[in-house]
Amino acid sequence: MTDLETERRAAAAGEPPPDFRLFIAGEWVDGVTGATFESVNPADQRDVIGRFQAGTAADAGMAVKAAEMAFPGWRATPAPKRGEILYRFGELMARHKERLARAMTREMGKVLAEARGDVQEGIDIAFLMAGEGRRMFGDTVPSELPDKWAMSIRQPIGVAGIITPWNFPIAIPCWKMMPALVTGNTVVFKPASDTPHCGTLLVELMAEAGFPPGTVNLVTGGGTEVGDAIVESPDVAVISFTGHSSTGKRIAERAGRRLKRVSLELGGKNGVVVLRDADLDLATDGILWSAFGTTGQRCTACSRVIVERAVMGPLLERLEARARALRLGSGLDETVDVGPLINPGAVEKVAGYVELGRGEGELVLGGAAATHGDLAHGSFFEPTIFAGVKPMDRIGQEEIFGPVLSIIPVDDLDAAITALNQTRYGLSASIFTRDVNTAFRAMRDFETGIVYVNAGTTGAETHLPFGGWKETGNGHREAGHAALDTYTEWKSIYVDFSGHLQRAQIDNQDT
Ligand code: NDP
Repeated sequence: MTDLETERRAAAAGEPPPDFRLFIAGEWVDGVTGATFESVNPADQRDVIGRFQAGTAADAGMAVKAAEMAFPGWRATPAPKRGEILYRFGELMARHKERLARAMTREMGKVLAEARGDVQEGIDIAFLMAGEGRRMFGDTVPSELPDKWAMSIRQPIGVAGIITPWNFPIAIPCWKMMPALVTGNTVVFKPASDTPHCGTLLVELMAEAGFPPGTVNLVTGGGTEVGDAIVESPDVAVISFTGHSSTGKRIAERAGRRLKRVSLELGGKNGVVVLRDADLDLATDGILWSAFGTTGQRCTACSRVIVERAVMGPLLERLEARARALRLGSGLDETVDVGPLINPGAVEKVAGYVELGRGEGELVLGGAAATHGDLAHGSFFEPTIFAGVKPMDRIGQEEIFGPVLSIIPVDDLDAAITALNQTRYGLSASIFTRDVNTAFRAMRDFETGIVYVNAGTTGAETHLPFGGWKETGNGHREAGHAALDTYTEWKSIYVDFSGHLQRAQIDNQDT
């Protein structure tokens, strides 16, 4: 029997849910107030996963102190040795992949295949960043003066505050913590309050992998309590945040007052362009996967299809038929295609946008919470499609973060590119076309951090930079070697072995 089944049986037998703790300075501890909050299964609100410490600013302060104390030792540990611990952590995640994926589906709702993918992203970034322990390239370049050596190296910044959302509850914390740790920073991690169990399981494995006490600290609790305290702490040198644009702006303002480095990965309104020469069956596959996978709750989810009018009819027909056949339910059931939204508040928010959409486009499919049978116990919403949406309509502009797709008809490629770029976000975009010239125009002219050709808007790989333009972020990137920039300072070093004073820009002037 898996741990998960044991827990579910215990819950069914009326046993109280298990209690979880904070992880500070290598110890599992209660929060100072002892207050707790529950995490529940979004597919079945009766299934309580556990009770978690409602951490406070005081707990966050202790975690920051522990991370600060651990920093000198971790910074001095050779980077390849730090990398070996990341490697062990990756191996542990691989060994526990199924357990982690099932726990994720239970707590966050995404179907098992996607939860396995989420864990795999964590494994991939752990291995990629383990390798950075032996790379972490700087530059060694010729000096403009004789007998002088010039090079630049990366150095850690200090304590990194890691604040994460619930929609990728394993992958995103790993995307942030792995580069932070391999470069020699220590970490205070605050997971989203909807997914504290995933965060806790992750940190349990990190402790087992051998990260020294204080290098990784976990504080569960509310964003305005624990999150604010981390952002405001003068002893936290860098914040890496993924979440809503509104939360990100607030964090940037507060951190800005302290000139603190902040990496922000925020909202999206990702579009797929379908042109008249596209393979419509392939486009349908890509759009369905991007729009309704993870119940539309990926930052890279497709929520706009910008289609040349000439092929709108046949594309819509395909999308409607396929979306109508999607099966809703608990993601632990392997026959289910679409899991629940994260919580009842999300159902309300999506329903509100659907009401708005009725006045903007034509509702073709769905449009209501799904409450029949067992679905009544969870936060389910029908896959929803609106046709005839205009680029500047609110449902075509605002992040809905649910299974709602807007179809925007346009006359030609130019209009498609204009519509695609007419948004304040800029994370991911895709184009379906068989014309190589058109594909290259899109690659050049789409104003997004990620572009796909003949694929949906999701599917990023961990060794390429991940992040968005415009209000999707503030110019930083996760993943790839670009991620190292968030967590390191550059140091340029000049070594003069000439034995006499040489003055750059002065002693080497001929004119
Ligand atoms: P939120 O902004 O609500 O929360 C994100 C995290 O911030 C949570 O841990 C939350 O804590 C915490 N938080 C909330 N308020 C504060 C505060 N004042 N100070 C510090 N921390 C705070 O986002 P969601 O969790 O709802 O995530 C969904 C959003 O994330 C979507 O907009 C989505 O597009 C975006 N996202 C972007 C990605 C990208 O790479 N661009 C990737 C994935 C998601 P608590 O849970 O306790 O409230």
